[in-house]
Amino acid sequence: MSTQRDYYEILGISKDATESEIKKAYRKLAMKYHPDKNKEDDAEGKFKEISEAYAVLSDEEKREQYDRFGHAGIDGRYSQEDIFRNADFGGFDDLGDILGSIFGRGGGFGGFGGFGGQPRNGPQRGSDLRYDLKITLEDAANGLDTTINVPRAESCETCNGTGAKAGTSPKQCSACHGSGQMTRARDTPFGRFMSTSTCSACGGMGEIIDDPCPACKGTGKTKKVKKISVKIPKGADNGLRLKVRGEGEGGTRGGPAGDLYVVVHVEPHELFERGGDDILYELPITFSQAALGDDVMVPTLHGKVKMSIKAGTQTHSILRLKGKGMPHLHGRGQGDQLVRVIVETPVNLSSEQKDLFKKFAELEKGVHGNHTKGGKGIFEKVKDAFDS
Ligand SMILES: [Zn+2]
Ligand SMILES: [Zn+2]
Repeated sequence: MSTQRDYYEILGISKDATESEIKKAYRKLAMKYHPDKNKEDDAEGKFKEISEAYAVLSDEEKREQYDRFGHAGIDGRYSQEDIFRNADFGGFDDLGDILGSIFGRGGGFGGFGGFGGQPRNGPQRGSDLRYDLKITLEDAANGLDTTINVPRAESCETCNGTGAKAGTSPKQCSACHGSGQMTRARDTPFGRFMSTSTCSACGGMGEIIDDPCPACKGTGKTKKVKKISVKIPKGADNGLRLKVRGEGEGGTRGGPAGDLYVVVHVEPHELFERGGDDILYELPITFSQAALGDDVMVPTLHGKVKMSIKAGTQTHSILRLKGKGMPHLHGRGQGDQLVRVIVETPVNLSSEQKDLFKKFAELEKGVHGNHTKGGKGIFEKVKDAFDS
């Protein structure tokens, strides 16, 4: 709405109004400005305004956005359609039809891609689609340009979406005279309303097809698989939702296509575990490497990297490879790779190795207690690693 009045003010309620107070206030105002009842010029605008205020304030998440950021928090985040999508107009049955006709799209009240009581003989927006895309951790780190095959309904080419056999055309429905809806008066506890419902003779299409198109069986749509390019940004994580505008199902009668939502799923990696922007890797080292120190090559998402193990490194020590983690999504900077060192106790010793260990054990007795720092908790070890 261009007026941008405060939603609480519009509904005449306080900032801490309860859910039922919001509902009550909306019901009262909706009755007052219902375009069937109120013939003032701006009644419809007023009705839209209070309905928008109600749609936002009755939705916990949207209300929180609005409380924190005001109109900018709503406008920047939700389209008009999003505002009304999933809004709870339950219990306002008498308003449902009028809401549909004012906002021009019943689907907004029917949930994701659903269709409400909107007359279907006009242009109709196609449904939104969701595509779940699995990618590897490497793809998530490097970003990915890929092509996906999306099965979707498109307008039938044989009949141009009319649903009628070639050479014939749909006839106007005589029951509703092509409007797709029946209007009747209803008495409700709030007074008398004119209400509209879908024409049962034509199912709301406003037209009757005697000879259906064989290609689409009269539906006007055919299933097609469309190749669509998508760009997965660097740093993508599980659940990232990318909107591809206009690549959902085709609209009907000149209506716009719906949108496609690509939802990213990052597959588990055999070497790396992800924690936000950081990557955890476990490096097995030998007893001698731990005791004497060594330079080793460590795999990272950005290739192999040389890492120094200090003499006297304890098992489960964590070493940090700066900037070798995941790139930050939509931002600068990179996470780190944390390398957890696992010291492996040698097994299947040769007799020579056994002798050396025995000798080592003898020597150890003399300096018992000095061979290990001992007693350090995991937090101190992690801290040591970060300080180093
Ligand atoms: Zn067809
Ligand atoms: Zn009809």
